[in-house]
Amino acid sequence: TARIMDGTVSARRVRSEVATAVATMTQDGHPAPGLATVLIGDDPASEVYVRNKRRACSAAGMRDLHRHLPGDIGQDEVAAVLDELAANPDVSGILLQLPVPAHLDAEALLARIPAAKDVDGLTPASAGALAQGRPGLRPCTPAGVIRLLQDHQVALAGTEVTVVGRSVLVGRPMVQLLTEQDATVTLCHSRTRDLDQVCRRAEVLVVAAGVPGLIGPDAVRPGATVVDVGIHRTEHGLRGDVDYDRVAGVAGRITPVPGGVGPMTIAMLLANTLRAARIQAGLLP
Ligand code: NAD
Repeated sequence: TARIMDGTVSARRVRSEVATAVATMTQDGHPAPGLATVLIGDDPASEVYVRNKRRACSAAGMRDLHRHLPGDIGQDEVAAVLDELAANPDVSGILLQLPVPAHLDAEALLARIPAAKDVDGLTPASAGALAQGRPGLRPCTPAGVIRLLQDHQVALAGTEVTVVGRSVLVGRPMVQLLTEQDATVTLCHSRTRDLDQVCRRAEVLVVAAGVPGLIGPDAVRPGATVVDVGIHRTEHGLRGDVDYDRVAGVAGRITPVPGGVGPMTIAMLLANTLRAARIQAGLLP
């Protein structure tokens, strides 16, 4: 049966690397990196996500510069807050928690975050840099998948990798990051014909479809590495897009849900914030 790729272990390692680097920065007289989280309104799930990000940021020795804005705030007022954070030298990274209330234009707001401070890697400028293979801050969840694979010595160069899902948040940047690692990438989505057969070709299968249990044992090549990005609250607890119990009998390595990709996402947010701060301090090109 498959070996488990434990994301909590990798995430802890990333977080402690970040904390060590932050301590070195401050000992050398640089200000600690600062993460500005912007939360609009009172969506309970978003509040939990933002709280977890702020805690992780403080635990790594970074400054937590949170802004909570009322749910009925206007587009121009949010834009003014983002512009102020963009100009503020204490702010290394800006994270606009999505989704924003429906009366706001999320894309226009994201576009105000300068690429140098875009620690979520989701603005048009960052997406363009990734698409064109230029340096930049990369989206946290797919970057976390790459780091998890690297930590488990999963070779990517020349490897047949299939990604299921083409979202702007996960699937598309995942394909580009894998391409950057010289993988041979196939992208599947809701219109793919014979999903199981295409997935079975993969030596590494990354699933971000948002459909509980979509991937069963027939979609997995024996010995393949299976990464499950999906998260679903079910009556049996958190579950992924992969039918874990049955796929674990076929795969060579597999990520659990919870405790796989999830913890990597926040860890990579911290890594991005550190990287942004180092570039701004002139410590990195
Ligand atoms: P999304 O709904 O935006 O995109 C889903 C994609 O999957 C679409 O491109 C669609 O074409 C494809 N798809 C849907 N049904 C399919 C099917 N039957 N066969 C093949 N492809 C299909 O979702 P998303 O934002 O990319 O998130 C995907 C999942 O990952 C969700 O469960 C989400 O909760 C989870 N997620 C987890 C993290 C994390 O930190 N672990 C981060 C982001 C998202």
